[in-house]
Amino acid sequence: MDFDYVIVGAGLSGITLAERIANELDQKVLIIEKRNHIGGNIYDYEKDGILVQKYGPHIFHTNEKKVYDYLSKFTDWIDYEHRVLSYVDDKLVPMPICIDTLNALYDLDLDENSMKKWIDENKEDIDEVKSSEDVVLKNAGRDIYNKLFKNYTEKQWGTSAANLSPSVISRIPFRFNHDDRYFEDTYQGIPKEGFTKMCENMIESDNIHIGLNSDYKDYIDKISYDKLIYTGPIDYFYDYKYGELLYRCLNFVTEIIDVDSYQEVAVVNYPNDPYFTRITEFKKLTFQEVEGRTAIMKEYPGFNGELCYPYPTKEYLDKFKLYESEMEKEENVIFAGRLAKYKYYNMDLIVKDALEIFENKIK
Ligand code: FAD
Ligand code: UDP
Repeated sequence: MDFDYVIVGAGLSGITLAERIANELDQKVLIIEKRNHIGGNIYDYEKDGILVQKYGPHIFHTNEKKVYDYLSKFTDWIDYEHRVLSYVDDKLVPMPICIDTLNALYDLDLDENSMKKWIDENKEDIDEVKSSEDVVLKNAGRDIYNKLFKNYTEKQWGTSAANLSPSVISRIPFRFNHDDRYFEDTYQGIPKEGFTKMCENMIESDNIHIGLNSDYKDYIDKISYDKLIYTGPIDYFYDYKYGELLYRCLNFVTEIIDVDSYQEVAVVNYPNDPYFTRITEFKKLTFQEVEGRTAIMKEYPGFNGELCYPYPTKEYLDKFKLYESEMEKEENVIFAGRLAKYKYYNMDLIVKDALEIFENKIK
């Protein structure tokens, strides 16, 4: 069979592009995926009757109406707003930092004004914010940094926050109010029947063919196609000609526990546990009613396991620029997604980017 497009990777970026090409242009697409399932890192599945997200907790959140409307064509949503607690000094305190975090942590009774005063007294004067450590020291001071961020970040990334670009911790807001939600975006939720079902709905077209359990390099020379869309790791695409890019990996360990409820909220962070970063209880994300058991997941960071995060230090960002100059020269290949662009994208930006690529480079 002849294909108009071969797409490498059945993650959200590959699936969004496949959907657009198949349904808008009525062209034939082959998706090649090396895992044994679609969905990439947003894949979820049933374990003992409980919907579990295989690659860690995923909550859709966006301010982009266009992205929300697009995905809403393929799923209804569970109205879920994410709340996280952090376990520190034998207490569970809201994360990100808000008035209630300081009150719980230091046994205070602050309001908005007195929180501002507390922060003024504790934060450090830093003229130029050069690292993720600087972000917290400037916003909240050293004690907050030590209790909630230092060890979590060191464990998550295998290096001190002092060595990481400000962008990593800047994802976490600091609030002078009682808003304890993890995200402030207008649209937030979890697909009603799960992310995998949403992805299945997106690629329900006779124009789309999928080969699972297949590395594209084993097949690409045997396929007849016009254009390639690549969403895998960029260093692999170029046979590591400029050396390997580093990705931080996670190992996800899921357990079924014989209790109705394991913890108060869907995610509890453990900044000071030596090994794992957080525990997710999936029933608290989906409101699934299952009696007598619940599914939890612990995340263990390392340099082996699932490639999860591009590594945002100067060495690797510089190396990526070498690959980027090659990518710009390609005429028959389109690059999309977190691994090819070597960027920490949330799902909404993945979809936004894919829709823009479709409009500007494909249509
Ligand atoms: P991927 O999902 O990685 O898909 C790429 C696919 O390409 C993979 O399936 C891979 O197997 C395949 N592939 C790679 N190489 C080859 C090859 N050689 N041949 C064939 N196939 C190949 N975002 C949010 O918006 N909200 C969240 O709450 C959130 N939580 C997250 C939590 C964790 C722990 C992680 C790691 C990410 C989280 N994200 C979250 C981000 C979200 O997972 C990504 O934005 C999204 O999954 C990226 O999609 P993608 O298609 O670019 O990449
Ligand atoms: N972080 C931290 N303590 C926490 C939560 C997050 O130090 O309790 C830091 C950590 O470095 C992390 C970054 O903030 O990588 C961004 O957190 P986010 O929750 O956005 O990361 P994600 O889980 O989405 O990868």
